Amino acid sequence: MKVQYNNRRQFLKRTALFTVAGFGATALSSSSLLANDAVDSVTIDDHETAFAGPFTLPALPYDYAALEPSIDKQTMQIHHDKHHQAYVDNLNKAVTEAKIETTNLADLCKNVSRYPAAVRNNGGGHYNHSLFWTWMKSGGGGTPSGKLADAINGQFGSFNDFKTKFSAAGMARFGSGWAWLVANNGKLEIGSTPNQDNPLMDVSDFKGTPLLGLDVWEHAYYLKYQNKRADYIAAFWNVVNWDEVAKLFAAV
Ligand code: MN
Repeated sequence: MKVQYNNRRQFLKRTALFTVAGFGATALSSSSLLANDAVDSVTIDDHETAFAGPFTLPALPYDYAALEPSIDKQTMQIHHDKHHQAYVDNLNKAVTEAKIETTNLADLCKNVSRYPAAVRNNGGGHYNHSLFWTWMKSGGGGTPSGKLADAINGQFGSFNDFKTKFSAAGMARFGSGWAWLVANNGKLEIGSTPNQDNPLMDVSDFKGTPLLGLDVWEHAYYLKYQNKRADYIAAFWNVVNWDEVAKLFAAV
């Protein structure tokens, strides 16, 4: 069937029907971002037409001001509406130009060495930020519990030792990048990646399934914390959504 779309809105409306939760405008679930079988492809009759913009900006799962005072409203607005939106837009451009057929973001990351740099940068940007929003919540923080707490204590000695090590990974990342807690071969590991790389990427030295990530790009903290990355990292612990981390941990 040949379908013509009169405009982008109509196109998006149609493709949204075929896009599995995880990338829709409202349904954001970090576990679907990580699952291998999530979002396999946009199955639509007219493949050529469909293949023009399958990625969409997920809505923030809370208000812009929800993470105040740890992360300020204006930073959240710009970070989500401008930075993340740009990754989505540029990823759509990049996959169209490179004629990449998969819309599975995890698969794109895992095979990123095959694709142009724009896919690595913007696919990573879209993936990382989509998860990042879910790793925080209003009234978050505190400590993990249950099996996740046991695993953290077992691997790092104590929750405080874990926090210290994760914070150090964020501080040690020179320039822009991310700090991560991952599960790798049944072990928890802490590390970092440059730019918008992530531990799923075949090009990454640090690998695993992300359980928690922290954006340490200056755009994530400069408005409120200026050059004081350490203060931003300290504040991050007040908003961590441990329920989400535990959910991801349970899935690996
Ligand atoms: Mn960012």
